[in-house]
Amino acid sequence: MHNKFYELIEIISDKIDNIQNGFDAYQNECFDKRLPEFFCLELNGEAGELANLEKKSWKGKVINKEQFEDEAADVLIALMNYSNSKGINLGESVKRKLLRIEQNRILLESKGERF
Ligand SMILES: [Mg+2]
Repeated sequence: MHNKFYELIEIISDKIDNIQNGFDAYQNECFDKRLPEFFCLELNGEAGELANLEKKSWKGKVINKEQFEDEAADVLIALMNYSNSKGINLGESVKRKLLRIEQNRILLESKGERF
């Protein structure tokens, strides 16, 4: 595996932990407690709003970059809140998943294929 890959997963894991913990503290201090099901629906709703903007853009409507940024931010916020409510450690989960993806990529590359 590439050194850049190892650098990436170490940085990502630490940073995501910090970000996720910050969202957890903010959510607990300032908002009502919600179930994971609520945040899962919110996450998918926000992902749908982002997808809808892409659909409109694809069809030729002019969408401001700030609109994409707002919806991408909503997706990240909802993912953080969902993960916290579900007890998911995103830093570790992303690290584990990226390792699996990289192993598959390397295996395919050894067969002359692209991931
Ligand atoms: Mg939104």
